[in-house]
Order: sequence, then structure tokens, then C-alpha cells
Amino acid sequence: MEAEVNSDIRKIIIIGSGPAGLTAAIYAARANLAPLLFAGGVYGGQLMLTTEVENYPGFPEGIQGPELMEKFRAQAERFGTEIYNVDVTRVDFSAVPLRVWTDEAEYAARAVVVASGASAIWLGLDGETRLRGRGVSSCATCDGAFFKEKDITVVGGGDTAIEEALFLTRFATNVTVIHRRDALRASKIMQQRAFAHPKVSFVWDSAVEDIVGDKHVTGIRLRNVKTGAFSDRKTDAVFVAIGHRPNTDVFANELELDEKGYIRSEDGVHTNKRGVFVAGDVNDFHYRQAVTAAGMGCRAAMEAERYLEAIESEAALAS
Ligand SMILES: Cc1cc2nc3c(=O)[nH]c(=O)nc-3n(C[C@H](O)[C@H](O)[C@H](O)COP(=O)(O)OP(=O)(O)OC[C@H]3O[C@@H](n4cnc5c(N)ncnc54)[C@H](O)[C@@H]3O)c2cc1C
Repeated sequence: MEAEVNSDIRKIIIIGSGPAGLTAAIYAARANLAPLLFAGGVYGGQLMLTTEVENYPGFPEGIQGPELMEKFRAQAERFGTEIYNVDVTRVDFSAVPLRVWTDEAEYAARAVVVASGASAIWLGLDGETRLRGRGVSSCATCDGAFFKEKDITVVGGGDTAIEEALFLTRFATNVTVIHRRDALRASKIMQQRAFAHPKVSFVWDSAVEDIVGDKHVTGIRLRNVKTGAFSDRKTDAVFVAIGHRPNTDVFANELELDEKGYIRSEDGVHTNKRGVFVAGDVNDFHYRQAVTAAGMGCRAAMEAERYLEAIESEAALAS
């Protein structure tokens, strides 16, 4: 089927409906830029996968992740953001206007904010999906405080896994790191810290085969990858720290990416293409928090607004 062509040139298109994209939309809409936002087939971003969010400012009692994202969306819509729950499947940022395609239609805009986020890489186990938010997490900063005086398991062997394990020692009685190999990939300094920590222990050469529990995580089933032997361990929480994948496939030929596929930006807001701005976890692999993503969305929208004003002045001078 031929994509329908929308001849209107929009001022701004925003790609992504997590905290970064929806915050960019709130700012762009209140600046009268009439934003069009592509929310993605799975709208709301990563917070839709979690239960309680206790560290987003303004909610002293905490708030459920999906409810928080409903509020973001309602606020963006209140000021006139047009939102389509579809994925952007192709972009062309080589010329102005910038072009964006979905499966059904083609759109054009003078500025684009890319806020397509990232996805945690999961183990792919049934128990992991069923118990997510009930003891299974991928974010120690977000969920560690729920497990005070508990036994915590961390899965992974890279820097992130070890950082998460060390952070979790603030709450846990003990933290066990499960790793498929017999040595860590983490940097030497992180390894030294982990090996020296009295609360951290390791189970080597082991893969998690299942995460078990009825309403909450109660244990894990392991398989020794060398002997094939199975064993069961009790634990109260499992933090999966085997990496994140930025959602950048669609942009790979248009924007400069780093070696891990994140969109590169010198200042955390401008990309290598004029008029294309970036916000949130698709650029930031370090902080990965809703509040930092929202802050980046605000910056991207304000920079886009300045850019649009500048090109309007250039056009006025030229005419
Ligand atoms: C289990 C879990 C618990 C967490 N808990 C907390 C917490 O308690 N506190 C906290 O601050 N942070 C928490 N985080 C981290 C937080 O969710 C992220 O930092 C934040 O959501 C990043 O926002 P973002 O807008 O950059 O991207 P995302 O939330 O990843 O949203 C990106 C959006 O873009 C869409 N998208 C992707 N590609 C396309 C495309 N081609 N076209 C259209 N749309 C597209 C996706 O569908 C998605 O909706 C948690 C994360 C997880 C996974």
C-alpha cells in the first residue's frame, strides 16, 4: 500500500511517548508549536512496565508507573498535542523539511525531537515477565529501596551489574551475583570493590533458568553451564543487569550513533543533523531516570523552539 502523503509541514514532530517525549510535547505545545507526537505501538515507555515509582518529584506517596504516564499524556494533550499510537518506521533527515514515515503515511516537519528511549534486555523467562514489579526489576536506583533487609540476586557480569550489586548492598542483607562465566567483564576497580564487599557473593558459570514465586519472587532455579546440574536458591528479588538496547534502528542511517547504538550528542540535546534534537534514554545511558529524561525533553523542546525562531528570522531576512 502507498503511504498517504501529508502535504502540511508541521513545526515539530516528536518521536516517543516516555517521559522525555511527552515532556517535550508539553513544552512545545505551550510554545504554540502544535506538536505531532508518535507514541509508538507500545505507548508510555518503560514506566508502563513497573509498579510503584517513589522517586518522581511531586508524588510524596509514590505513584504507579502507568498512572504517571497517563498524567504526562493528559498534560501534553491538554495543551493541544496531537498523539498517534503508531511507530515511526522510516525517517529522512537529509534535507529540510525533515521527513517521517509510519506504515500508513508520510509526514514533514521543520524540527524533530527523537525520544525513542531504550529497552532493558531481559532473560526471556516466563517468571521474569509475570513477577516484573513484584521482585523482578532492571533498575536498582529505581527499585532497590523496596528490598530493605532482604536477600537480593543480581544477574550479569559487566560494569552495570556490579554497580547495581554494590548499590543494592545499602538495602540488602546480602547480594548474590549470578554470572554465566567464571570471570567478570566489569572493570578491575569495580571487581575489586565487589570482591572486597562483605555483603556481595558470587555464583559462577550459572544461568538463571526460572524465577519462581506466586505473588512475589521467592527464589530462582539455576543451571550450571559446565556440569548441566540444576539448583534452587531462595531470594526475595532479582535485578536483571545484562544490558540495555537503545531504540535506534530507525535512525541508524540518519543520525550519528555511538558504538552501543545510542544517539550521539555533544551537549545531550543537538544531534549531528540540523533541526533534529534528542532527549532521554536514547541518548543517556548513564542516569536512565524518568526525571532526567523529562528534563532532557524540556531542553530539547526549548532548543527546537529557538531553532524554529532562528530559521523564521533567516527566511524573513532572505525575502
Ligand atoms: C522496570 C523499570 C522500572 C523503572 N523504575 C523507575 C523509577 O522508579 N524511577 C525512575 O525515575 N525511572 C525508572 N525507570 C527508568 C525510566 O523508566 C526511564 O529512565 C525513562 O522511562 C526513560 O524515558 P524516555 O522517555 O527516554 O524513554 P522510554 O520510557 O523508553 O520511552 C520511549 C518511547 O518511545 C517509543 N518508541 C520507540 N521507538 C519508536 C518509534 N520508532 N516510533 C515511535 N515511538 C517509538 C517507545 O514505544 C516508548 O514509548 C524504570 C525502568 C524500568 C525498565
